[in-house]
Amino acid sequence: MRIVLLGAPGAGKGTIAKQLTANDGSVQISTGDILRGAVKAGSELGKKAQGYMERGDLVPDSLIMDIMEARLREPDAKKGFILDGFPRTIPQAEALKVLLQKLGIKLDTVVDIDVPRAVILDRLTTRRTCSNPDCQEIYNVKSKPASPEGKCLKCGSPVVQRADETEEAISIRLATYNEKTAPLIDYYRKEGLLKTVSSLSSDEIVKEIVRVVK
Ligand code: AMP
Repeated sequence: MRIVLLGAPGAGKGTIAKQLTANDGSVQISTGDILRGAVKAGSELGKKAQGYMERGDLVPDSLIMDIMEARLREPDAKKGFILDGFPRTIPQAEALKVLLQKLGIKLDTVVDIDVPRAVILDRLTTRRTCSNPDCQEIYNVKSKPASPEGKCLKCGSPVVQRADETEEAISIRLATYNEKTAPLIDYYRKEGLLKTVSSLSSDEIVKEIVRVVK
C-alpha cells in the first residue's frame, strides 16, 4: 500500500504504521525517526535539525524533501510505503505530489487519525521511546511499561523520554500542528484522497485502513 498518515503528535501514527507494515511488506517511512537517527549519529543533517526538533518546531521543508526523495528512491520503497509524519506542511504536500509524479507513483489514500486533545496530551507526557535508533520501540508508563530497569523489551537499550516530550515542547508541537499541518486535511479532501478514522484502538484503525486500501 502507498499511504500517508496524518494526525497530531501522539495520535498513534507510528504504532499504526508499524502494524500496517507487518500486514503487507510496505515500509514505514518516518521523517521523525530518520531525523532522530541523524541527531544521534551527529551527521550534518542531524546538526542542522537538532535545534528545531528540541524546541518542537518543524525542520525546514528543503531538508525534509532531500531526505524524502532519497528514501523513496530506495529499492525497499517499491513494495509500498506508509508515510508517518510527512508531509507536515502544504509546501511539503505539493513537493510530494511533484516527486511522486516524477517517480510514476500514485497514493492509495491519506488517512487522518482524529484523536481528542486530552487523549493526545496524556499519551505524549506518558510516552517513552527506546533510545536505539534502529529500534525506537514505543512504550507508555501506564499502559505499556518497559522493563523494571527501564530497558527496551525488544533490544535491551535504555528507554527514555524524548527531549521534545517535555510539557513546553509538547504545547509548541501541538500549536505547530494546528497552524501548519492541520490545513493538509482540507488539501487532501480536495484531492479526493482523504479518509478520516477516529477510533482509539490501533487494531481497529489498522483494519479500517486495510479495508479502504483493498
Ligand atoms: P515526529 O516523531 O514525527 O513527531 O517528529 C519529531 C520532530 O521531527 C518534529 O517535531 C519536527 O521537529 C521534526 N520533523 C519530523 N517530520 C518532519 C517534517 N515532515 N517536516 C518538518 N519537521 C519534521
